[in-house]
Amino acid sequence: MYPVAEIDLAALKHNFRRVKETAPNSKVMSVIKANAYGHGDIEVAKALPGSDAFAVARLSEAIRLRNAGIDKPIVLLEGIHSPDECQQASEYGLSVVFHNEQQIAYLSALTLTKPLQFCWLMIETGMHRLGFAPDKVADAITTLTNSNNIAGDIGLMSHFANADTPSDDRNGKQLAVMTKVMSEHCGPRSMANSAAIMSLPTSHQHWVRPGLMLYGVSPLNKKTAQSLNLKPVMQLKAQLIAIEQLQRGEQVGYGGTWQADKPTRIGTVNIGYGDGYSRLLSNAGQVSIQNQIVTILGRVSMDMICVDLSGIDKAEIGDEVILWGDESNPVEQVAKQAKTIAYELLCQLNQRVIRDFHG
Ligand SMILES: *Cc1c(COP(=O)(O)O)cnc(C)c1O
Repeated sequence: MYPVAEIDLAALKHNFRRVKETAPNSKVMSVIKANAYGHGDIEVAKALPGSDAFAVARLSEAIRLRNAGIDKPIVLLEGIHSPDECQQASEYGLSVVFHNEQQIAYLSALTLTKPLQFCWLMIETGMHRLGFAPDKVADAITTLTNSNNIAGDIGLMSHFANADTPSDDRNGKQLAVMTKVMSEHCGPRSMANSAAIMSLPTSHQHWVRPGLMLYGVSPLNKKTAQSLNLKPVMQLKAQLIAIEQLQRGEQVGYGGTWQADKPTRIGTVNIGYGDGYSRLLSNAGQVSIQNQIVTILGRVSMDMICVDLSGIDKAEIGDEVILWGDESNPVEQVAKQAKTIAYELLCQLNQRVIRDFHG
């Protein structure tokens, strides 16, 4: 068995229902950028027909979805980056987020035969990444309206920088800035990502924008997915392809960064950084074999990793190895082992890993 990411679409649908239960009065923009966080954007979109819209980061991602027959509204979270992209957004019937004056200038200089339908203005409320400062919002809306290239609403959008830590007082500060902007302008509003959906109900507003929680990963630093009733969608699997008995003093892998201090049985597993499995898991990550957690020994190589089999006498070549996504080793935990976040591990998984959809 070559490395495979099993994608449980029933779990995905369950997590979508959790969004609806938690934010019952909001429309849902399901965030499926970066190939649906590595899960497969087209299949994820098809499995979530209850979404009121989908959101991606780039034009190319939206076009892929359109070409696959996804006809729901699709929002470009980073907007358009040239007049040509603006023209294409119009042709493909996309909703565009405008976050700077240059983008509005591109739109204003065009005469679109098919006006953009429902657009968003990104408001800078404290993250200092994208958006219009509150005192620039009125002018931006006027220019957008005067362009005569938008037929539908212009919504107000902002994004939290610290929602994964609900007690952080910067969340309240961002929400207060947004609330003031909202009091001065009408139209749909959207602020909540997964973490805010789960922990900041006052931020739900007209549209919520869940990403991570749809994939069954906890968006909150101090809570597990299980405690939030989210079900992991991806289980990453590979297999044992070799077993070796090491003597005391023998070393494992490139650089010999792990050395046996006693006779040790080790196993080689057929997955590596060439699949997008993080090299940061060298001498740190854990995987499960026969329901037992074992540790990675030495460096992650391009196509393989080595693991400690000392605790598993019955391990055999061909045994299934679960890299993440089972109860004892969720991707959140593997992310901690790699000193990164689950988002990165999921997105990094590349096309070499087969996606196997079920449910
Ligand atoms: C990626 C993204 C989201 C989704 O965030 P999650 O933390 O995955 O729920 C929402 N809004 C914007 C603007 C984003 O870029």
